[in-house]
Amino acid sequence: MSDIMFEHLTKTYPNGFISVDDVTLKIQDGEFVVFHGPSGCGKSTILRMIGGLEDITSGKIYLGDELLNDILPRDRKLAMAFQNYLLYKYLNVYENMALGLRLRDFPRNVIDSRVNTAAQFLGISDILHEKIKNISDAEKQRVALGRAIVCHPKVLLVDEDFAHQNDDRRHEMLSDILRINRELGVTVLYVTNDPEEALSLDSRIIFMRDGKIEEDRKA
Ligand code: ADP
Ligand code: ADP
Repeated sequence: MSDIMFEHLTKTYPNGFISVDDVTLKIQDGEFVVFHGPSGCGKSTILRMIGGLEDITSGKIYLGDELLNDILPRDRKLAMAFQNYLLYKYLNVYENMALGLRLRDFPRNVIDSRVNTAAQFLGISDILHEKIKNISDAEKQRVALGRAIVCHPKVLLVDEDFAHQNDDRRHEMLSDILRINRELGVTVLYVTNDPEEALSLDSRIIFMRDGKIEEDRKA
């Protein structure tokens, strides 16, 4: 099983500021977990350490029996959907979705099949040949999720900035992410500042404050 385990996870910045303070936590394979708390409490830092965008100062993160501390970001079985999507404007939807698989030298036919399957799942099959600069923001959001799931990650990391848009769009995106969790069995870690949203999801909520877990409320 690919449970996630944090053991005494800590992040200290060079100026001495402790943004994540000795966090120990287990997340089960397939869970949908919301990280909630005031701005600056360390939520994004946790996601960035799991994703490998930020070094771990001390402590350990396991995904299943793999110690992520020792695994290069591109080799971790997880995907991230962060702010402004980081899509390539002048490439088309297909090319953007295929990028991660190309980098990992997947065979062409596997790439083709995975991109088509993911596009169907997200309802974007008809725009595969459109350039990113010509599609809507709602579509871009789906492309970013498509690019994440074609790699068959065990875990999807979503930062609220990704969804920091109008309510309708945020709602659509959340329903896509819930489907990815329920239908594809991908564990989701979702960071949000918005208390209403955190509570509306009916999921396990980790409340954070000053780098620590204040409350771990089961669904
Ligand atoms: P959240 O996602 O909960 O809003 P973050 O994880 O982004 O919070 O940030 C946690 C804290 O770490 C913030 O107070 C931020 O100012 C601080 N921080 C982030 N990067 C650095 C850095 N390079 N040096 C010092 N402090 C930092
Ligand atoms: P599908 O989505 O079509 O079921 P699979 O996961 O079964 O794809 O993988 C099919 C092929 O993709 C494998 O036989 C292998 O050639 C290639 N492949 C799978 N994982 C990797 C990887 N991590 N790096 C490179 N190629 C891979």
